[in-house]
Amino acid sequence: MSLSRQPAGELRGPDAGRRIRICGWVGRRRDLGELIFLTVRDRSGIVQVLFDRARCPREAVDAAAEARAEDVVEIEGEVVARAEAQRHRDQPTGDVEVVASRLTFLSRSDTPPFLVEDRTNATEELRLQYRYLDLRRPAMQKNLVLRDEIAFRIRRTLHERGFLEIETPMLTRSTPEGARDFLVPSRVHRGQWYALPQSPQLFKQILMISGFEKYYQLARCFRDEDLRADRQFEFTQIDLEMSFPTEEDVFEVVEALLEAGFSAAGIEATRPFPRLTFAEAMDRYGTDRPDLRFDLPLVNLTAEAAGSGFAPFERALSGGGAVRALRVPGGAAFSRKTLDELGALAKEHGAGGLVWIKRVSGDVTSPAKKGLPEGVLASLLEKGRVADGDLLLVVADAGKAVFAALAALRGAAAREAGLVDDSRYAFCWVTEFPLLGFDEAAGQWFPMNHPFTAPREEDLPLIESEPGRVRARAYDVVVNGWELGSGSIRIHRADLQERVFRRLGISEEEGRERFGFLLDALRFGAPPHGGIALGLDRICAIAAGATSLREVIAFPKTTSGTCLMTRAPAHVPRAQLEELGISPPADPTRR
Ligand code: ASP
Repeated sequence: MSLSRQPAGELRGPDAGRRIRICGWVGRRRDLGELIFLTVRDRSGIVQVLFDRARCPREAVDAAAEARAEDVVEIEGEVVARAEAQRHRDQPTGDVEVVASRLTFLSRSDTPPFLVEDRTNATEELRLQYRYLDLRRPAMQKNLVLRDEIAFRIRRTLHERGFLEIETPMLTRSTPEGARDFLVPSRVHRGQWYALPQSPQLFKQILMISGFEKYYQLARCFRDEDLRADRQFEFTQIDLEMSFPTEEDVFEVVEALLEAGFSAAGIEATRPFPRLTFAEAMDRYGTDRPDLRFDLPLVNLTAEAAGSGFAPFERALSGGGAVRALRVPGGAAFSRKTLDELGALAKEHGAGGLVWIKRVSGDVTSPAKKGLPEGVLASLLEKGRVADGDLLLVVADAGKAVFAALAALRGAAAREAGLVDDSRYAFCWVTEFPLLGFDEAAGQWFPMNHPFTAPREEDLPLIESEPGRVRARAYDVVVNGWELGSGSIRIHRADLQERVFRRLGISEEEGRERFGFLLDALRFGAPPHGGIALGLDRICAIAAGATSLREVIAFPKTTSGTCLMTRAPAHVPRAQLEELGISPPADPTRR
C-alpha cells in the first residue's frame, strides 16, 4: 500500500522511526560522495533528506546526485532523529532528517533565475517576471497564508454578526470615487461602455434599499490613478453597509473585524479605538491620519510670532497663514545633518523652510537667533514648553503647508528621537470630516468623500450659505499613520441627495443621467444606512510587516501598472478592435 503524503515541514522529533512519503521542490544539494543531502520544500516547510550509499538503493542515490534546484521530487524514507550536536534549533524540522530509500522525479526544472530562498538579491522586476518562483519563497508563502487567515477571520466575524456576502457586478456604470475609470467596450451595444467599479458604493446602497440590512463583500475595485508604492490599479476592499445604523454600530463592527483580522498576525487591536474629530486631528497633529504611537502634539505659535518683525513669520501671517511648531523631547541632540534633512523634508511638503531652536544646558541655539527678538524667542520657548535638551521645530507658511510639513516632521522627528514603538499598533477613528472641499482652479465645490455622504443634521442650513463649514457624517479608521478605511452614514432621502448634487454643480439632468437609478430607488422607501470600506491589501501588508502592497498580493502590477509576468497591458489584434467598433490608435512604435 502506498504511503500517504506527509507535509515535509511538519516532521518533528516524535516522528522518528516512521516511514513516510514527501513531495516537493529540491532546494539545496550537498554531495559528499558517500552521502548526498537534499533539502526538500513544500508549503508546510523544509526538511533535510539524506541519501546514504551504505543504506539506500543505488538508483535512489544516483537520482539524488542528479537533482537540481526546483526539480519536483517524490521521496520515500524513514524519519530519523539527528544526533544532538547536529540538530538545527532554528528550523522547525531541525531535530530530524529523512533517510531516503527512493527518489522519483515528478518534474524537472531549468536553472532558476534566482534561488528560491527568503534571502534573495533578485531585483523586484525579476521577482515579478518569475512570480511563480518568487511565490515559492517561504516568506511569500507565509504572507499569502496570513492573508487567507486574515480574510477568513474577517469573514467569520461578519458572518457571525449576520452580514451577508453579496457579489456586485464588475461590468457596470461609472461610480464616483474620484479616480479615473477603467472602461470596457460593449461589443453588443456599439459605442457604449461599461466601467469597472471604483467601489460597489451604489450597489451596496441599493442592497440596503432592497432590505438586506447587513451586506459585506471582499470586493475588487478598480481605479485608474497615478500609482504610488502603496497603490494598485486593482485592489481589494472589505466593503460593508448596514441599515438603520448609528456611527457607533459601524465602529463596533469595524473594531471587531480589525481585532479579528490583526489577531491572525498576533497583533492586538486595543478597543475601543480612541476618536478625534477631523478638526482636532488637524490642529493637534497636522493630518487626518495621525500616528498615535507617540503623542508629540503641534503647538500654535501664531500669537507669539505676530509682530515679531521676523521676516518669515511676518510673511506667513500677512498672507493669512500660521506659525506652528513641534517640540521634540531630547531633540537637542539631533545632528546638524539631521536638522538639514528635516529642513529639506519641510520644503518637500511645501513649506518655505524650517526654523529650529535648541535648548542645551541653559543655552539657546538657533540659526534664527539673530533675526528673532529675545522676548519673542523666549515666548516661543515658553509656549512650546521647551525644556533643557529639547528641540523646537517651527514652520511658518501662508497656506496649508504648515500642517503638511509639520505632520511629516512629526513622524520623522519621532523616529529620530526613538519615540516610535514598532511593536505597537495605535488605532483611532477620525470623524466629522468636512462634507465639501473647494477646487480653486475649477471654482467649484467637490465632495471630500463621495456625493452620497450625509451631512450632519445641524449643519444642513449651511449647505447653500457656507458649504465649507458643513461637517459630514464621515469617518476614517487609522492605524500608525495609515488610513485603513473610510466610510459614512449616507443620504437616504431623494430631496437631500438632489440638494447636495445641486451644491456640487451636478445639474438635475446630469444627476438623472448618472445616478437616476439611485434617485429613483431613494423614492421607494430607503432605510437610513451607512457603511465603510477598508483596504484589505493594506491591512495584510501592515500585519505582515511588509513594506509594499506587492508583498501581499499574489500577482501585483508594477508602479507603472504593468504585469511583468503576463506582460499586460498588451496590444490586441486589429480584428478584435474592429469587432468592438474601435479604430486602432495611431501607434508610432508599431507598423
Ligand atoms: N465607497 C467608499 C470608498 O470606496 C467607501 C464607503 O463610503 O463605504 O472609499
